[in-house]
Amino acid sequence: TKKKSILNDQDYKRIITRIAYEIIEKHKGVKNLALVGIQTRGDFLAKRLAEQIAAIEGTTLPVGSMDINMYRDDWTKISHQPTVRPSNIPFSVDDKEIILVDDVLFTGRTVRAAMEALMDFGRPSRIELAILVDRGHRELPIQADYQGIFADTESDDMIHVHVLEQDNEDCVYRELK
Ligand code: 5GP
Ligand code: MG
Repeated sequence: TKKKSILNDQDYKRIITRIAYEIIEKHKGVKNLALVGIQTRGDFLAKRLAEQIAAIEGTTLPVGSMDINMYRDDWTKISHQPTVRPSNIPFSVDDKEIILVDDVLFTGRTVRAAMEALMDFGRPSRIELAILVDRGHRELPIQADYQGIFADTESDDMIHVHVLEQDNEDCVYRELK
């Protein structure tokens, strides 16, 4: 197998900064916005985005998280019905514009499940998607509104996402099978 670094800590910083500005520009501010990260690494990224947005706009957005079932979190065991549930959403999603945040977008099934869970939970006025790495191979018509990078992969390649909070480094590797 071949393992190659595709993002380093500087790249991470630039991506978070750019996406923060993209969100603010698209929404002409941050009124009515909230971030919801998909555990585990999506919620660290959601918190980083909230910090960066606060640094730019002076407003700290509410940040919640959703839990994905164990089988699907170990994404190597593909379950075709990932279940996602709100695990910690300490604010009302009603009439909010929610930006879902995840580390990797692959088939799109996790995001679909997350959207369903959010809509069971309340009535957001809009849902958008921010992801760090799009690795292709979608099985549903789902695309990110904000994306770090696209990484060309084969289905059985792996993207390893490391975040400082959990893995002691900000780095993304692509492992070719
Ligand atoms: P999907 O549901 O789109 O097939 O897969 C996305 C979910 O599985 C995300 O929550 C993501 O964390 C995880 N995932 C899918 N493929 C990869 C991958 O190559 N690397 C990592 N780190 N996570 C992945
Ligand atoms: Mg995940």
